[in-house]
Amino acid sequence: MSSIGRSELLRAPVFHTPANPFLQDRALECHWDGGLLIRDGRIAACGDYSELRVAHPEAQSSDLRGGFLLPGLIDTHIHFPQVRVLGSLGRSLLDWLESCALPEEARMADGAYARSVACGFVRALASHGTTTALAFGAHFAPATAALFECAQEAGVRVLSGLVLSDRRLRPELHQSPDAAYQASKTLIERFHKRGRLLYAVTPRFALSTSEAMLEVCQTLLSEHDGLRIQTHLNENHTEIAEVRRLFPAAPDYLAVYERFGLCGPRAVMAHNVHPSDSELRRLAASHTTIAHCPCSNAALGSGLFSLQRHLQAGVHCALGTDVGGGTGFGLLKEALQAYLLQRLAPEPAVLSPGQLLYLATRAGAEALGLAEETGDFQVEKAADLVYLRPPSESPLAAVLSQLESPERVLAALLTLAGQESVAEVRVEGSVIYRAPS
Ligand SMILES: [Zn+2]
Repeated sequence: MSSIGRSELLRAPVFHTPANPFLQDRALECHWDGGLLIRDGRIAACGDYSELRVAHPEAQSSDLRGGFLLPGLIDTHIHFPQVRVLGSLGRSLLDWLESCALPEEARMADGAYARSVACGFVRALASHGTTTALAFGAHFAPATAALFECAQEAGVRVLSGLVLSDRRLRPELHQSPDAAYQASKTLIERFHKRGRLLYAVTPRFALSTSEAMLEVCQTLLSEHDGLRIQTHLNENHTEIAEVRRLFPAAPDYLAVYERFGLCGPRAVMAHNVHPSDSELRRLAASHTTIAHCPCSNAALGSGLFSLQRHLQAGVHCALGTDVGGGTGFGLLKEALQAYLLQRLAPEPAVLSPGQLLYLATRAGAEALGLAEETGDFQVEKAADLVYLRPPSESPLAAVLSQLESPERVLAALLTLAGQESVAEVRVEGSVIYRAPS
């Protein structure tokens, strides 16, 4: 599996977004007869195959024509303990949490059960082409440790942390702030910056965290370098009204997090379906990312997210699948859902294939402070990639046989390429998933 010390030249159409297509025209780069040169797990070159073949005669060449190379997909919001409640349709956020998500999350107290869920979760990330994920852990330290261990064994980049709550969920999911501090500290020492793993301080949401618990989050961030932060924000009207009641001194939902220093370039907040203009301005000023989860927003009836308002305010956005409030692990499907909902949003937008690819790849790397490492195929980045090869009898294969415009090919992949089209996935050049042949 190791690729150390040798050069490999992959031949297939290559798509990536080395720049932000919301800011620059032509940010989508495509090499139709493309080549990706990988050396020691890094991108050594990306361009036209014939030129790379001549320039690097020593490289071992693999002909992957018939498929397509994309950067590894990046999920900026997902919950590992919720895999087995996927598909619980027909409810809204608070009712869904109480009836579906929290009972399953309570089962993570059983370490063996949690480990089997965690390993299935990591396998599902890899088999859907997701090479990096910012994931909520469990409310239990051993279960959260199991997620880190499974990710390390599988080679997937996982950023995660113990989920912190001390009220309003179920008693077995609550910790005292002191216990939360100690357990988080131990997990940070064991897993933060270990291989591809990073630790993310994870207050579940303002609704379930007291001021004392939010202060614990602030303390952890001040005591350790390079931690990330993940939480939820402005998802549902009932939730927002309840947060106002619980924090009467805070002018809005975001202010609760601001007071404890939980915003900033390493913070990712999921949803923000119902922001005020002031909140958008402050999110932009603090360089906090919003993880847009369009399948979840629609499935839970949370509302129509306005990407236009976020972009106009200068708020950085990336994509999250929000398993299990969402509808599965596929980030291309999530990008398609973003396209569909933005056509219908109050301030409608027609997102281009390049913008959708960016949201599912480089935007996530930027959100997670990993833009130097992954997210596109610029030279010296890690060779994190997904190789899509549609099954030969599939409608996608039939559509692609008619197309030659790279933009239309990418649009067809975004529309029709499901898990069955993921043929191979690599992180730092090493295969982490290969479809059964
Ligand atoms: Zn969530």
